[in-house]
Amino acid sequence: MERYAPRVPAAEGRGHVTVRPARAARKAALSAPRRKAGPDMAATPVMQLPVISECSAEGCAYNHEHTCHAVAITVGDTDAPVCDTFVSADMDGGEPSVTGRVGACKMADCQHNAGLECHAPAISVGYEQEQVDCLTYARA
Ligand code: SF4
Ligand code: SF4
Repeated sequence: MERYAPRVPAAEGRGHVTVRPARAARKAALSAPRRKAGPDMAATPVMQLPVISECSAEGCAYNHEHTCHAVAITVGDTDAPVCDTFVSADMDGGEPSVTGRVGACKMADCQHNAGLECHAPAISVGYEQEQVDCLTYARA
């Protein structure tokens, strides 16, 4: 019985080099149609994240003079509105030029929460007994 033998295409440029890959790629990029900047290139609207107006947790690495500098914190552990981003490491965290915002919140029962995102205009964070909580939390 004859065995199937797949056809192997002849190697490109065998015997002589006719195409330089880098040059060919550059040429293709130059001849590709250019995308126009304009209304069709408008940025996708991004929801403005709620700002953290104050945080009294001075022991947190992201805190400097009651201002949070974490770019986006996560709130909630499903039972309590804790700041899940709190870290007591002995170092400066975050981005000094920004004021922290709420990136995500797991407190689905808060009246400011929709789809596990915070829709409050701003929140404050601080100690609630022994833990650091979102003090703007309000059960729906
Ligand atoms: S809001 Fe959270 S992450 Fe930001 S400084 Fe306060 S405890 Fe730290
Ligand atoms: S106000 Fe409510 S939804 Fe917003 S971060 Fe605090 S607990 Fe979450």
